[in-house]
Amino acid sequence: MATTAAPTWRNWAGNQRVHPARIVSPASAGEVAAAITQAAAGGLTVKAVGSGHSFTGAAATDGVQLRLDRLAGLRTVDGHLVTVGAGMTLAALNTALARHGLALPNLGDIDAQTVAGALATGTHGTGAGYGCLSTFVEGFELVTAAGEVLSCSATERPDVFAAGRVGLGALGVVTAVTLRCVDAFVLRADERPLPLAETLGRFAEFAAGNEHVEFYWMPYTQRTLVKRNNRVAAHDQPMSRLRRWWETDFLQNTAFGAVCRTGRALPRLAPGLLRTTAKAFSPLTYTDRSDRVFVTPRRVRFVEMEYGLPREALPEAFAGLRRIVAGLPFPVLLPVEVRVTAADDIWLSPGYGRDSVYLAIHQYVGMPYEPYFRAFETLCSTMDGRPHWGKLHWRDAESLRPTYPRFDDFRAVRDALDPDRVFANAYTQRVLG
Ligand SMILES: Cc1cc2nc3c(=O)[nH]c(=O)nc-3n(C[C@H](O)[C@H](O)[C@H](O)COP(=O)(O)OP(=O)(O)OC[C@H]3O[C@@H](n4cnc5c(N)ncnc54)[C@H](O)[C@@H]3O)c2cc1C
Repeated sequence: MATTAAPTWRNWAGNQRVHPARIVSPASAGEVAAAITQAAAGGLTVKAVGSGHSFTGAAATDGVQLRLDRLAGLRTVDGHLVTVGAGMTLAALNTALARHGLALPNLGDIDAQTVAGALATGTHGTGAGYGCLSTFVEGFELVTAAGEVLSCSATERPDVFAAGRVGLGALGVVTAVTLRCVDAFVLRADERPLPLAETLGRFAEFAAGNEHVEFYWMPYTQRTLVKRNNRVAAHDQPMSRLRRWWETDFLQNTAFGAVCRTGRALPRLAPGLLRTTAKAFSPLTYTDRSDRVFVTPRRVRFVEMEYGLPREALPEAFAGLRRIVAGLPFPVLLPVEVRVTAADDIWLSPGYGRDSVYLAIHQYVGMPYEPYFRAFETLCSTMDGRPHWGKLHWRDAESLRPTYPRFDDFRAVRDALDPDRVFANAYTQRVLG
């Protein structure tokens, strides 16, 4: 088992920095178990880390950091059921699935996360008929604080399965995951600017009439970019390499990065810059392999908060958000993103038991954000909002418990699996108690 002295660990956004006592890279569930028992015997806590793409301190530890990059291979393909090492990235998974003529049914905006890391926080994409990515999980292998290796599914330890599909890394270390995939498919992407009032007025219709829909609203404007992705039989409208470079590399990263840097240096110019940026939204239609349509490279660094709300809350929440943005003493440099998911039955999934709409707010790194995010959190909390576990929020166990009907059941599973809190960190102590 590879053990290294630990340098400072920081997450993707750079807002979480910690010094783990040591870093261990196990290559089997047995080695994970040995690392856990050794750490516990020495009085250290343990945290598995994925790709560090959470904005919260979910993955932060000053104990033993487990990196699962040696548990990252494709294990078995049995029809549509695919078992992978938990440390595999979604990018590697998508490539491997494509080789087998398969795909994940849905994805979020990026593919840099590990499988276990994405599932642990309830990572989701968009689509009224799709739950978060954890709803694709058919089973997983979990190494507990006692060093036991458990197989969990709807029929084997169903309580651990219901809790552990969105487990916040608090129940143990996931070493393998079995996902129900679908036949590979092609999406037709349709992206077009629409006036904000029209987008809000028709969003329920868009969500019902498209497999995947989301929109971005640029603060200080009346303009949105609406993205609709639907399955088609043929890949008959590929985007040229030049256009792809222009849209994803240049406009969304290089040029937008320059806008953000300028807005940060000269905040008074920011609203005008964002208005100019929104004018550059232009219609785009193309087809591609599903994962290539779902995900986009993100090089502009930001911090983010995202709240899941009952689907019908969108108009009121959005109106409140606009009032908050208008009243801030500093500019917001990044857009608001709105997505939808279907209800699921995973105890700590933000989509538990209800069709949801998600409002994600962002701020460019180095800009003030806390008054913005806190005001939005207050608004969402009054509307039965549930924060994304991987994105910034200040909620604690006491305030989260009433919004999750199975919160106490999750805590009971945690008490049984990790009575001594080997997998605790400051984040789990705050949100789970
Ligand atoms: C640019 C960007 C875009 C994003 N887009 C989306 C999006 O479209 N949709 C969305 O919902 N979210 C999105 N996110 C959030 C992101 O998907 C989540 O924060 C996700 O949890 C990050 O995965 P990770 O592999 O980086 O895990 P980390 O952030 O490293 O860890 C997350 C949690 O998983 C736990 N964990 C990791 N591995 C294991 C394991 N093997 N066993 C047990 N627990 C484990 C960690 O302990 C921690 O609690 C985005 C984040 C960024 C930075």
